[in-house]
Amino acid sequence: MQKLQGIAVSPGVAIGEALVMDNEGFRIPQRFVARDAVENEIERLDKAIAAAAAEIARNRDVVTKELGEKYGAIFEAHLQMLQDQRLRADLEELIRDRHYSPEYAVSRKMRQYVQVFQRLESSYLAERANDIVDIEKRLLRHLLGHRRENISQLTSPVLVLAHNLTPSETANLDRRFVQGFATELGGPGSHTAIVAEALEIPAVVGAGPFLAEVSGGDTVIIDGDRGIIILQPDEETLARYRHESRELQAQAARLQSLRDLPAETADGARISLLGNIEFPYEVEHCIDRGADGVGLYRTEFLYLGSDSEPNEEHHYQAYRQVVEAMNGKPVTIRTLDLGADKIPHLPKPEDEKNPFLGLRSIRLTLRNLPLFRTQLRAILRVSALGNVQVMFPLVSTLMELRQAKMVLADVMEDLDENDIDYNRSLPVGMMVEVPAAVMMIDHFLEEVDFLSIGTNDLIQYTLAVDRSNRDVVGLYNPSDPAVLKLLSIAIGASVRKGIPISLCGQMSGSITYMMLLLGLGLRSFSVTPSAIPELKNVCRRLTIPDCEMVAQKAMTMENARDITAYLRGELKKRVPDASF
Ligand code: PEP
Ligand code: MG
Repeated sequence: MQKLQGIAVSPGVAIGEALVMDNEGFRIPQRFVARDAVENEIERLDKAIAAAAAEIARNRDVVTKELGEKYGAIFEAHLQMLQDQRLRADLEELIRDRHYSPEYAVSRKMRQYVQVFQRLESSYLAERANDIVDIEKRLLRHLLGHRRENISQLTSPVLVLAHNLTPSETANLDRRFVQGFATELGGPGSHTAIVAEALEIPAVVGAGPFLAEVSGGDTVIIDGDRGIIILQPDEETLARYRHESRELQAQAARLQSLRDLPAETADGARISLLGNIEFPYEVEHCIDRGADGVGLYRTEFLYLGSDSEPNEEHHYQAYRQVVEAMNGKPVTIRTLDLGADKIPHLPKPEDEKNPFLGLRSIRLTLRNLPLFRTQLRAILRVSALGNVQVMFPLVSTLMELRQAKMVLADVMEDLDENDIDYNRSLPVGMMVEVPAAVMMIDHFLEEVDFLSIGTNDLIQYTLAVDRSNRDVVGLYNPSDPAVLKLLSIAIGASVRKGIPISLCGQMSGSITYMMLLLGLGLRSFSVTPSAIPELKNVCRRLTIPDCEMVAQKAMTMENARDITAYLRGELKKRVPDASF
């Protein structure tokens, strides 16, 4: 038995068989082929090259059409590299003369090319090394097709163990069979963690190197509450966790009985408990938990969950599903927050050194107007069907907000010209997730209908801590007094001006912060749907004056650890069964 400590990112306990993925999601053993299999293996290589070439050509055509020749040319260059006769001859030689398997030959040869390119003086050519890695992965995907199916076409329950999972890989996990996952890399606010919550499966990230210690089929426990992974547990540990898992289910059933009661404090203040969703199917999770609406729909997952570029109709159908299911309750659709760790299939103009400070989110959409306009058209069209609001992410300057609103107005005009129905008074809001936006809050409040605070980013940009980096996880802390000051400024200004404000970062789903946030004046929490019952249970046992007193005291404290301990202690006094 081996016990590892990682970062808990999605609650619950999963016990089951391991499915192990290596660094790249591929396993490339040093394998050799028998002499009489050589011809078949070369044929397999040719088929993989042809399939990869067809895929690249399709991408080239789509990208050229949507974004222009300049971007299409990137894929054209990939195609030429892949179809280079010299490469084909080198690979054949490795299979024919050295009896390498095609996978091993591709992996060896491409790595050699990468090294040659990286040594070149020209920085332009050195950067092309990434293109070779891309081609290598694509070829391997075709060669290893059957092994990749392990992850996407499962037939029995597994716990996925991987070095790292990107948000799109996580989004593509098969929900019917993947019962939990654990990774060596990853931080507490990474989007991979957020997707795990959407899938409602226990998950632990940032556990450090452990894959060498485990084989596929081993029994594993993932404890998503404490951030623990147990490899090959002994009988006693297994029994303990099985018992705990049953207890958790019983507790969830008890909380579920609150579903139809209003979320309000003991002294009658109505609280809005909204759901954060990434995929349309999660609207069911919101309804099951009695959510008051959808406070954050992360629409970029439409890109991350699919292989091709979504068009206006894809957007529209996804939003329609959500808006209709919510049946008149508010749905806040956030425009695309792509970039940083949420990388779509779009080619990036440059390799970014600091992607979280780079071309992400509203910056990216404002530079890709066709993409932005397509999405806004879909949002406007769906606004005719229910209670829809639109929200812009990562706004850091007034100019950005104004530009985004201008594009929206322009798209509205288009719809008018074409007699397409939409809500002319669609509420327009923005996320507050950059300290600059808090500093300028009074100006922003003049120009929006509502605000939503994104603490996942606000914390990382305030404390200069990458939210997805396990090495600095100790510095990423919602209780930091600097973060609390920014929250207090933003909430206070909105309340004074009478503009609705909610909080949709992970922080609002933690009961630890409920007294503080209520005490600062917040009345709307947008959280992962599974957190709603517990928050409702807690808020129904609190009173506002009490929360205000606790918030005032917390705001005088100087360090995060004391603040967390204080907030938990005060909550425990009022809600003795609260567990953290
Ligand atoms: C946030 O930053 O808090 C937020 C809700 O947005 P995301 O996690 O998608 O960046
Ligand atoms: Mg954010």
